[in-house]
Amino acid sequence: MPMSKAFEDRLSPILTETADHFGTPFHIYDETGIRETGAALKAAFSGVGEFREYFAVKALPNPAVLAIMRDMGFGFDCSSIAELELARQVGARGEAVMFTSNNTGPKEFLAAGADGGSILNLDDISLMDKVPKMPELICFRYNPGDRRTGNDIIGNPVESKYGVSHAQIVDAYRKAAARGAKRFGLHTMLASNERNYDYMVRTAEMLLDLAARIGRELDIRFEFLNIGGGLGIPYGPDDAPLDLAAMGREISALFAAFGAQNGYMPRLYLESGRFMTGPHGALVARAINRKEIYRTYVGLDACMSALMRPGMYGAYHHITVHGKDGGDPAEVVDVVGALCENNDKFAIQRSLPKIGDGDPVLIHDTGAHGHSMGFNYNGRLRPKELLLRTDGTVSLIRREERLTDHFATLRFRADDFRPAEAREGAR
Ligand SMILES: *Cc1c(COP(=O)(O)O)cnc(C)c1O
Repeated sequence: MPMSKAFEDRLSPILTETADHFGTPFHIYDETGIRETGAALKAAFSGVGEFREYFAVKALPNPAVLAIMRDMGFGFDCSSIAELELARQVGARGEAVMFTSNNTGPKEFLAAGADGGSILNLDDISLMDKVPKMPELICFRYNPGDRRTGNDIIGNPVESKYGVSHAQIVDAYRKAAARGAKRFGLHTMLASNERNYDYMVRTAEMLLDLAARIGRELDIRFEFLNIGGGLGIPYGPDDAPLDLAAMGREISALFAAFGAQNGYMPRLYLESGRFMTGPHGALVARAINRKEIYRTYVGLDACMSALMRPGMYGAYHHITVHGKDGGDPAEVVDVVGALCENNDKFAIQRSLPKIGDGDPVLIHDTGAHGHSMGFNYNGRLRPKELLLRTDGTVSLIRREERLTDHFATLRFRADDFRPAEAREGAR
């Protein structure tokens, strides 16, 4: 589905002036839409005792956007030192930060424990020997392997590198309790861009069953269950949206049943990235070239450095041309960037209104895993980011990269190591 009608109605009237003022290309994010989705999440889970979204920082790691999340009462799901720093930059501390790293190194554990700490979500049983100090509150990421819930296989995470296996999970908590952990959470993350809400319901059911079983075996209670992120959004024009209300209802009922059986109710945590911000962003670029060989190519002033998903995964992103619509003459084109990589294409053989040089082109649904995934291959730099605020202001929230940024790592103190001389000197 293209961007919402509401976002389009906010963006369309200001697009030309905004593009003239800031220059293209840029990602622009819609604060109103982000807040509406946040409110919808809270409403959907109002039936659960306590609900909290931990926004997955990697989806849109910009402090201006993270400040909106914090204002809505959300926490942050971080998996690197940079993401921890961003979360703290907007004031998140302690249990408002969840550190879900994998293949974690000692510096990361130190960073996760600094500044009032964060919830440690351990990816492996062996990491308990490597945390500097066993925290009172501990969480493990569970990988169910090819286990079924009811008739459903939830993915096939046997080949995934993440999490503690089914055979290890009870031992993980036993060991943690023996080392002084007193408070417990349980996490899993199995879906990716999944629009079938039932998948998340099954995930919640699986974690509730597991929490009940571990709880009985070890006589512990789980303060929270985190069912991960991975909620899908409709990128394609015919994609149905995820039924958030039904998901909330069914998961709430499962939590209520758990409460009745176990005499307490854990909090429900979610760590959505894409669902929170994906539909509320667009990449605005201008057409700069048109080329007719075996196919027609429309070249933009943006490339994969601004948005990797189409080139990397063949992902569909809806494209519209500002000021032109279905009523204008259409043609089938490839929409491309300037990378020396033939997969640097935003669309392949797409029917679009005829595009001329200078036309502003909108690539939809770039609010998650868009700018943040960009890379600098070929010396192509990442574009700026703008925020369309609820009061109508358009704020620059990240400038474009410049050559001085790109070359910054080429300025360093000379270091010519001569191993033979070093060996000589040691003798
Ligand atoms: C990437 C990631 C998320 C967010 O995924 P979305 O598909 O953007 O919802 C959440 N949790 C973890 C552990 C992740 O790695």
